[in-house]
Amino acid sequence: MASDKQVTFVIVGGGIAGVTCAEQIASQFVSDEVYLLTASPLVKTVTNFKQVSKTLEEFDIEDQPSSVLEEKYPNLKVLQSAVKLLRAKEHLLQAENGQTFHYKKLCICSGARPKLLTQDNPHVLGIRDTDSAQEFQKRLSKAKRIVVIGNGGIALELVYEVEGCEVIWAIKDKAIGNTFFDAGAAQFLIPSLEADKKERALPCKRARYTTGKTGAGHSGASGELGSALGPDWHEGIELRGTVQNSSGVHVEYECEVDKIYTQQEFLQSQLNTNKSELGLWPAYVQLTNGKIYGCDFVVSATGVVPNTDPFLSGNNFELAGDHGLRVDDHMRTSEQDVYAAGDVCTAGWEPSALWQQMRLWTQARQMGWYAARCMAADVLEEPIELDFCFELFSHITKFFSYKVVLLGKFNAQGLGQDHELLVRCTKGQEYVKVVLTGGRMVGAVLIGETDLEETFENLILNQMDLSRYGEELLNPNIDIEDYFD
Ligand code: FAD
Repeated sequence: MASDKQVTFVIVGGGIAGVTCAEQIASQFVSDEVYLLTASPLVKTVTNFKQVSKTLEEFDIEDQPSSVLEEKYPNLKVLQSAVKLLRAKEHLLQAENGQTFHYKKLCICSGARPKLLTQDNPHVLGIRDTDSAQEFQKRLSKAKRIVVIGNGGIALELVYEVEGCEVIWAIKDKAIGNTFFDAGAAQFLIPSLEADKKERALPCKRARYTTGKTGAGHSGASGELGSALGPDWHEGIELRGTVQNSSGVHVEYECEVDKIYTQQEFLQSQLNTNKSELGLWPAYVQLTNGKIYGCDFVVSATGVVPNTDPFLSGNNFELAGDHGLRVDDHMRTSEQDVYAAGDVCTAGWEPSALWQQMRLWTQARQMGWYAARCMAADVLEEPIELDFCFELFSHITKFFSYKVVLLGKFNAQGLGQDHELLVRCTKGQEYVKVVLTGGRMVGAVLIGETDLEETFENLILNQMDLSRYGEELLNPNIDIEDYFD
């Protein structure tokens, strides 16, 4: 039954940012009712949280029914209903089930959705949540060739994991994994794409995504609102096509999609190409380098768009260039008493020289947690400083079965020519790159079991002048930890 509710805190979104925010608020304000509204039936909870070093963290994620949260926090109510309408000036929020909330503080953590090459094209698929990953798996099981577009983390993992299907991977950059790596690291990783699957597996520790025994997560009522998958999203899903012994990945560099044709459009087109040579496929992709590939379907992994739709109409939110809700250093949007965290928001404060926003699992947790502390501080009229986690960008992940640690300006982001790189590489084992500016370390990429993350994190944080060490810094015969003790 539709009803009106007066509540102090409402949080929207059952992903990592929303759940972390709601848990933090509920545990701090035990006598206040806290509402978490989410479009998805399962919520994502962080377990086994471990602070690996000052800024690096590892944790597991579990999809759980909302009752788990309600049992843990008696003052936290989870409503599975998408937000339909927000009237920020009136502090009013309406859910699709008709329930209306009059809040004092609201935090929007509605995540983001894949930026698709084209909307409503049945031959183009995006991967975001459990449903879309399952749809991908289903279609892959009947496929001989797919075309993957995009060069971020999802595309990287996907091309590596797919077996039994030819993959054409089109990227607009000169090297693979441009979001995370430079050309050197890409070169280090490329042989993994060509190696036999059995030879690939290397032991690796990292954040693990686990699905609870509650059944697969489904998207919300509107079909597109499930929580984002995260690390290991492909684990437990067999990503196999129909071709025996094929893990072939062909990379097309420096190109984008010009046009996608259905079979019929292609056959009827005036294209100046030998159509019969290309074979008969459900879809055809024309790239900007002029090449045309037939394929079973296209995976569009070209980034995400923040889910801001139900919140914008009638309100005055300041949006960033990437369409995220712009937040200040207290996670406040431009609408009074409305905060935002995770993929839906864009950091609008002057960032530390060593931090940048990336729409990642760890940042969703950190922002959700910090937003809760900011909401609390505002209610209690207490001062709060920007959290230390925004001091240095740090991320642990896994690409092509290698442990990957990224620190600070790992790709010399924003440094122009004003930097120097030191690289150490042992083929098939490790790739270490440090970024120095004015003799001080400002970033690092560590691939493999390098064991250097803590030392490098310290060197970046303390901004020690390293000029006198020169290339010795990466000398494998020197125990660098002892060096700087
Ligand atoms: P989400 O997890 O997307 O949660 C948003 C929530 O809001 C959902 O519960 C949704 O149902 C709800 N919602 C949306 N609209 C509404 C509405 N109108 N009303 C109510 N509720 C609503 N990050 C990494 O760090 N490492 C990785 O290896 C990695 N791999 C990834 C692989 C894939 C395939 C994808 C898609 C993402 C990956 N990411 C990875 C990114 C990471 O998953 C996200 O950055 C993170 O999950 C964002 O969390 P969030 O809470 O902001 O949003």
